[in-house]
Amino acid sequence: MKEKREDNCVFCRIVRGELPATVVFEDEATLAFMDIGSVNPGHMLVAAKPHVANLQGMEAELAGAMFRSAARAAKAIEAVFRPAGISVYQANGAAAGQTVFHAHIHVLPRWEKDGLTFTWPVKNPPRDELEKVAAQLRTAL
Ligand code: AMP
Ligand code: ZN
Repeated sequence: MKEKREDNCVFCRIVRGELPATVVFEDEATLAFMDIGSVNPGHMLVAAKPHVANLQGMEAELAGAMFRSAARAAKAIEAVFRPAGISVYQANGAAAGQTVFHAHIHVLPRWEKDGLTFTWPVKNPPRDELEKVAAQLRTAL
């Protein structure tokens, strides 16, 4: 896996041990630590160890390692908190809500009426529109 680092990136600095973090686990490619802004107790972030800004910039091997660690985090949350649910959230770009531009996955326990909301403005396009968009996407795979 290609190592890439950015001097002033907060999560690179955590990975290097230059900034404090409450680490839960790590492996060769990822670091899981508590989110300082925790929405609920148990809210973890899984960050890539190499600097990569977003999901679309990730090599397949790293993307696989990220989700493997997210599942590991979810299993620990399930065992400890027995929550009503678990959310996985991953933002790419400011418009998508990303605030730290070093790729990471949020894994957090959920409870009924815990205040976390996500509005999903469903548009239900017709099938031919879905087919057209899918054909466009296939050209880029
Ligand atoms: P996002 O909006 O997906 O980019 O989320 C960034 C997350 O990183 C937020 O939930 C912050 O609370 C969290 N965060 C920012 N700085 C730190 C830090 N030094 N240690 C732990 N979590 C952090
Ligand atoms: Zn970084």
